[in-house]
Amino acid sequence: MNWLERDSESIWHPFTQLVNGFEHIMVEKAEGMYLHTSDGRKIMDAISSWWVNLHGHSHPKIAEAVAKQAQNLEHVIFAGFTHAPAIELAENLLSILPDNQSKIFYSDNGSTANEVALKMAFQYWYNKGNEERKKIIAFDGAYHGDTFGAMSVGDRGPFSAPFAPFLFDVEFLPMPENGNEDEVLQKFYQLVESGKVAGFIFEPLVLGSAGMKMYDGRFLDKLIRIAQDNHVICIADEVFTGFGRTGKHFASDYLANKPDVFCLSKGLTGGTMALGVTSCTEEIMSAYKSTDIMKTFFHGHSFTANPIACAASIASFKLLVAEETQSQIEKISQWQKEFHDKISSHPKVLKSRVLGTIFALELKTDADTSYVNEVRHKLYPFFLERNILLRPLGNVIYILPPYIIKKEEIDKVYEAVEEMLESL
Ligand SMILES: *Cc1c(COP(=O)(O)O)cnc(C)c1O
Repeated sequence: MNWLERDSESIWHPFTQLVNGFEHIMVEKAEGMYLHTSDGRKIMDAISSWWVNLHGHSHPKIAEAVAKQAQNLEHVIFAGFTHAPAIELAENLLSILPDNQSKIFYSDNGSTANEVALKMAFQYWYNKGNEERKKIIAFDGAYHGDTFGAMSVGDRGPFSAPFAPFLFDVEFLPMPENGNEDEVLQKFYQLVESGKVAGFIFEPLVLGSAGMKMYDGRFLDKLIRIAQDNHVICIADEVFTGFGRTGKHFASDYLANKPDVFCLSKGLTGGTMALGVTSCTEEIMSAYKSTDIMKTFFHGHSFTANPIACAASIASFKLLVAEETQSQIEKISQWQKEFHDKISSHPKVLKSRVLGTIFALELKTDADTSYVNEVRHKLYPFFLERNILLRPLGNVIYILPPYIIKKEEIDKVYEAVEEMLESL
C-alpha cells in the first residue's frame, strides 16, 4: 500500500466529508511559504495552515528552541511545579496584552482557552455567592471551538446541529451591521441590566469562521462599556485575531475599553504546536483567593504549560516583535488593502473586506453566503491546481498569509483570485 492508501485505512481527518471529499495531499516537508508534497509539488500556503502560522513553516529559530527545550526539560506536572519557559512566556504575553491583564492560565488549544474563560467567569460569580448570573451573551455566527462549552457559545449552525440538545442556553446577539445597531444595543441593555449575565464572549472585530465577517470596533467598545458598567465579564476570543493578524498585536488594541479576559492560541507558538492561553484581570483572580477549597479553580490538563510549546512560543514572540516582522505586517496590510480596493467592484464580488493582514471576498452565487455553499467544491481545487492553498469558507475566499510572504508571492495569489473571478 502507498501512503495515501495507508492513510485512508487508518485515519479520520477533521472537518472532512468522508464521501465526495478531496484526496488528501501528502506533505513531506514544509519550509517558509511552501508545502513540499510527495508528488513533487511546491504549494504556497496562503492561509497559514488554518490561521496558525506566523513566520513561515519550519522556522529555524523556532525549530532550534524546540530541539533545545526537548533535550533539557520536555514536560513536568504544572501543579506544584513550575519552569522558566512558562514564566518567561507569561511575562512576554503580559508585556503586550492590555495593562489590565494580570495572570496567565495555560491550556492546550483555542477551544480549551475558551472553556477556561467561560469556567473562570461562571466560577467567579459562584465564588462570590451570586447565584443569579448564569447567562452568557455571544454573537450570532460566532465560532469559539469544538468542545461543548465552546460549541454552546458558538453559532447554532451545521457544525453543532447534531449536538444542539446538549448545548447550554446562550443569549445570542445579532452581528452589528447595516443599520441594526440600535436594535442590537437595546437587546444588549435589556440582557445586561437583568443582573443574570455572567459574561459576554466575542471575537473582536473579525468573526473568522463565520466568513471573516468584520464589524465596527467603536460599536464593540460601546458594548464592552455597557457590559462592564453592569459587572458583566467581557471575554475577548483572540485565538484567531491575536499576534498581528489585524495589523496590531491584538484586535482589542483597536478598543478603548479593554476586555477582562483574553483567549489566545493559533499563532501563539508561531503555528508550530498546540498551546492555549487564557489571561485575566487581578479582579477575576481575586475571587479565587480563599482558604475555602471549594473556591479553587479545578481545571487543568495533563500537558498544561508544556515546556516545549512554551519554548516555541517564546521564539515566535521574539520574531513577532522584531522590527522586520512588524514592517512586514504593515506591508502586507497595505497590499491587502490595495487588492481590496481593486477587486471590490468586480461584478462577481458581492462584498470584499480587509483588516490588517486579513483579506476576504464574498462571491456572488445563486445560494446564500454560508460555509455549506457548494461553490467551495470548485474553488478549492481551482487554487490547488495553481499550487496555492486557499480553503474558502463556502463562498468566502480569504487570503491570510504568514508574515514572511513576499510581494511577488502574494501577487501570484491575487492573480489566481482574479483568474478565478474571470472563469466564473
Ligand atoms: C480556531 C478558533 C478557535 C478554536 O481553536 P482550536 O485550537 O482549533 O481549538 C476558537 N476561537 C476562534 C476565534 C478560532 O478561530
